[in-house]
Amino acid sequence: MKLMRIFSLLILSALPFACGRGLDAKPALKKIGGLPKGKRIEKSDAEWKKQLTAEEYYVLRQQGTERPFTGKYHDHHEKGIYLCAACRLPLFSSTTKFDSGTGWPSFFAPVQRENVEELADFSHGMTRTEVRCGRCGGHLGHVFDDGPRETGLRYCINSAALIFTDRK
Ligand SMILES: [Zn+2]
Repeated sequence: MKLMRIFSLLILSALPFACGRGLDAKPALKKIGGLPKGKRIEKSDAEWKKQLTAEEYYVLRQQGTERPFTGKYHDHHEKGIYLCAACRLPLFSSTTKFDSGTGWPSFFAPVQRENVEELADFSHGMTRTEVRCGRCGGHLGHVFDDGPRETGLRYCINSAALIFTDRK
């Protein structure tokens, strides 16, 4: 039943885009989720550069991808929550983490739907769905539909975009 709710939520949030609201909207942009505007964090590029490590900045602000099997969380199995490395918003829980064998931390669901936003990404000659932090807009990774049966989704996330905490 929970799955049905997630699916109907997905369909509902995608509806305005499917109906082609606003011809000026970029067709490539299919934004789902994300917190309301007042709850979002907006910083200049210079501010992010100052705050983040070089690796975090490359992934979060320049849509970079860390090399597989090199990040700190692909083989990490502690119980807790993975926060956005830039703004500390809770993004993924260890309870939805699974071993995808890809070399990147993989989850079948975010902690809350609105904590991530998803956008169509046509870069590098591929059609993928980019996943960003719903509060600061930082690039996290991509989501694919070949995940485990719980949701069928595989959130393929860069370790550099995450900070783990075991605090409740
Ligand atoms: Zn964030």
